[in-house]
Amino acid sequence: MLVVFGSQLAPIAYSARLPNRLILCLDGVSYRDMAALQQGLTYKDIHGWKFHRQAFNHGYFPVSRLISTFPSISDPSWSEILDDQPPPGYQRTYFDASKDSEVALNGVTSSEEYEEQMTWQMAGGFHRILGYVAPQHAFRYEINSVIKDFLQTRDGRVNYYALIHTTDSAQHLSGDIFWMLSTIDERLQQLRAAYRASEGKELEILLLSDHGNNHAGGGKRVGVRHFLKSAGYRISKSIRNTNDIVLPTAGIESWIEIHNSPTATEALAQLLTHLKGVDIVTAQLPDRTNQFLIINSKGERALIEWNPIQNSFRYSAEQGDPINYLPVVETLKNKGALDSDGFAKSDAWMAETLALPYPVALERIVRGHTRVTLNPSTVIVSLKNGYIHSGFIIKRGAALTKCGGTHGALDDVNSDGILLSSFAPTKDTTTSRVAEVYDGFPGRRDARNWAAASKTTHPHFNSFPYRLPNLSSSFACIPPKPPLLKTQMMSPP
Ligand SMILES: [Zn+2]
Repeated sequence: MLVVFGSQLAPIAYSARLPNRLILCLDGVSYRDMAALQQGLTYKDIHGWKFHRQAFNHGYFPVSRLISTFPSISDPSWSEILDDQPPPGYQRTYFDASKDSEVALNGVTSSEEYEEQMTWQMAGGFHRILGYVAPQHAFRYEINSVIKDFLQTRDGRVNYYALIHTTDSAQHLSGDIFWMLSTIDERLQQLRAAYRASEGKELEILLLSDHGNNHAGGGKRVGVRHFLKSAGYRISKSIRNTNDIVLPTAGIESWIEIHNSPTATEALAQLLTHLKGVDIVTAQLPDRTNQFLIINSKGERALIEWNPIQNSFRYSAEQGDPINYLPVVETLKNKGALDSDGFAKSDAWMAETLALPYPVALERIVRGHTRVTLNPSTVIVSLKNGYIHSGFIIKRGAALTKCGGTHGALDDVNSDGILLSSFAPTKDTTTSRVAEVYDGFPGRRDARNWAAASKTTHPHFNSFPYRLPNLSSSFACIPPKPPLLKTQMMSPP
């Protein structure tokens, strides 16, 4: 009997361990904010109260930059981070080129593949709306739920993935990101202590974010529709004529996507540099394969040429130097990194530009017009901080609350997310490279096949995806449950 019983126990005892690693995906946390918090900083919140905070300074390596996609927004960025298929659009409202029509999904209730792959994420609907109405409440709910769910996960999985949405939504609404991050640190310290007691080893924690936040306040809304209409263009939902433009708009952002007839691209890009609030305009040149235009608001102009086979880039300034990359060209030349045609490999460009005001710009602009979504736009406008693009109604609605800042633009404050580890030093990298560093982030839920698989093989697990029933009551060999964490959180300022 002992032999029979023992042989049954072995795999269960093995699978009764908590996961080795917690991978916490924090939406919209800036590198500069996390770096400041690790150092310790004194600041005033929006009510004028002064705080000194320091967090993630014990048990973590120094934070590294995780440079976002361009535009620096969630869906393309998380999809790249997790090495998923590109999403259909940059946003949930997008232009479907094959159908020649604009598609609008509900950003609150719809889910992208990366969201479905999480071990835990806030379900759509009510809680997501709460994230925009009462972000601090939703934030408490999210972080408490992740920790509770993690401590109940004893199904043999090695990596546990969770996505926190409210770190982004709260910042859009002037939430105190330093309080939120300090709270996360505190809760994770409690979790680590519980984990040590239960598992007899250290929990590995990895924090990632998809983009930054410019903290530029409410921002002035750019009059792009009026501007384009005045110039003779027609804002439409499809592109039938050369002057038709599709302008998918969702939320409040510091970038604009423009879909247009190929013949209009160059003139349109040039025109848009005169729109007040514009910093940089990029465009894919329709008649020249793998060539991309960068123009800034001063009319300075450069060409990016991409060799997709070598994954190498050439930057040629045609007039001025719109993103100040000529010194980088010089450095690459001096290091012998340029080939005879003046192209350098993407990694060489990255190494020289990670910490610049427009980080890893060439590669990100090219990918932004070709790879980061299934329906890339012809023209992308990156706004100056302090200017925003939004629908009129959304901006009016947001006027009722205080806007804290946004993201989407090409520059570092919008683009630099975080990579922070408790178990190994990290290096600055990009969203398109980070999956390689972590073996492709294994053990995520299979979003595509899970629904089908769960119905055929685990019909009784439908309501609790991928979680085995609680075994601790039936088998004495299961380690004791870790002590319950206090659910009390630090009060907001
Ligand atoms: Zn956001």
